Amino acid sequence: MSILGNFINGQAVASQSGRTAPVYNPATGEQSLQVALSSADETREAVRVADKAFATWSKVSPLKRSRILFKFKALVEEHTDELARIISSEHGKVFSDAKGEVTRGLEVVEFACGIPHLQKGEHSMNVGTGVDSYSMMQSLGVCAGISPFNFPAMVPMWMFPIALACGNTFVMKPSEKDPSTPMRLAELLKEAGLPDGVFNVVNGDKEAVDVLLTDERVQAVSFVGSTPIAEYIYATASAHGKRVQALGGAKNHMVIMPDADLDQAVGALMGAAYGSAGERCMAISVAVPVGEETANRLREKLEAELANLRVGPGLVDGPDNDMGPLITREHREKVAGYIQTGVDEGAELVVDGRKTAVDGAGDGFFIGGTLFDHVTPGMRIHSEEIFGPVLAITRAASFDEAVSMVNAHEYGNGTAIFTRDGDAARQYCEQIQVGMVGVNVPIPVPMAFHSFGGWKRSLFGPLHMHGPDGVRFYTRMKTITQRWPNGIREETNHFTMPTL
Ligand code: NAD
Repeated sequence: MSILGNFINGQAVASQSGRTAPVYNPATGEQSLQVALSSADETREAVRVADKAFATWSKVSPLKRSRILFKFKALVEEHTDELARIISSEHGKVFSDAKGEVTRGLEVVEFACGIPHLQKGEHSMNVGTGVDSYSMMQSLGVCAGISPFNFPAMVPMWMFPIALACGNTFVMKPSEKDPSTPMRLAELLKEAGLPDGVFNVVNGDKEAVDVLLTDERVQAVSFVGSTPIAEYIYATASAHGKRVQALGGAKNHMVIMPDADLDQAVGALMGAAYGSAGERCMAISVAVPVGEETANRLREKLEAELANLRVGPGLVDGPDNDMGPLITREHREKVAGYIQTGVDEGAELVVDGRKTAVDGAGDGFFIGGTLFDHVTPGMRIHSEEIFGPVLAITRAASFDEAVSMVNAHEYGNGTAIFTRDGDAARQYCEQIQVGMVGVNVPIPVPMAFHSFGGWKRSLFGPLHMHGPDGVRFYTRMKTITQRWPNGIREETNHFTMPTL
């Protein structure tokens, strides 16, 4: 079985570490590949190469850097179907969803093509007599990205297009569960004209990651993954003097007010809870209907819709399924375990995905859409991230109770409110302690020119991903205050604070 190695200094390089991990096709359960788990030395070599490339790449004019990204954009468009097939065969998500992921990543490339406009800095004339002041947004050096399994194209593309456009070089450490897509993106970057060494991919696990967190040549670390690891990444890399953005896990609530268009809300919930088998950090995993009548009607409609949910392989001839398998057998067992936990905790299991029969599933890691009712805060299936197709209905008696429930949760990634009442929506947006809020929009993922990030234990670090925050993260501001000889002729003493 072939072993996927690294991409360093513009070429594929076999790893000599002797350690590997299996990569599966989740729809069949068969192992498709082995991925190298690189050694610390191999990771340091990638950092060395990126550090060397920085000396020239940071001096390339911003326009030339953008032109390479324009070519990369065209190549990603040309290869969208190919990339989506790779994603689907290693992650399991359905083909149309995989294509959507590529498109959302591509939008960040499009944003990055315009970065010369955002990297201009500021200028003020005559801040004092004959004194001008201006700022530069300079590149940092080597930046590192560590990504999760659930968006093998989009999450790396939240990071490297902006880092590269700002004049940095990059070392990417993809998820070892579906590593092929970032490797293909590295080849496309080279084809677009990116100089060797500017973008490198190191496959691996903690051993490789720990080098990226501690090597003094790495200036910034972008991480997306689960909260315990995000916290570790933030603490370790910060302690080693790096700037860090570490995005963590989530438990996203959708509040459904009594006046909401219930058919619209149910349609939105089905996609938001079960799309990509619930393996999205912005998936809705808790529905919070306000009032008993809303809750009863919602449950009835969801139960009916779940009977029609098409679960099956991500790559099929003919129309797509609605959702595919989970990423690994272990994860499937973990999600099945959570369903049992919910039953043991006293929640009412309305639809049990463990019983869903999937045509032609073979040994694939499938579990069907699951619905619980009467889930209460304090139950583990409410407090913990399941990361599977399990939706909990947690009933609230009032708007205020719904808001308090969401605000009390440890995570604060995304949330939504469905209502026809502008005042309720406005109050919700103002009061809610969550980073991304949808009003009648179930998955409010900001576009590339806005920034993506949660609050509370869903994000460690002050700056969100992509958009204006992304540019701030990957640049360092320097402010120059200058005075030319005319002013110096009238030299006075400088022992007091200048007040102009
Ligand atoms: P994970 O935390 O297991 O892995 C993420 C990355 O960290 C991988 O590259 C992995 O190799 C590395 N890693 C794992 N353990 C490590 C360790 N001990 N030391 C150093 N590195 C380590 O996450 P996952 O299972 O791949 O992804 C799912 C999680 O990601 C979910 O919690 C989901 O909510 C979260 N996620 C969050 C966002 C967001 O924007 N907030 C987006 C996507 C996914």
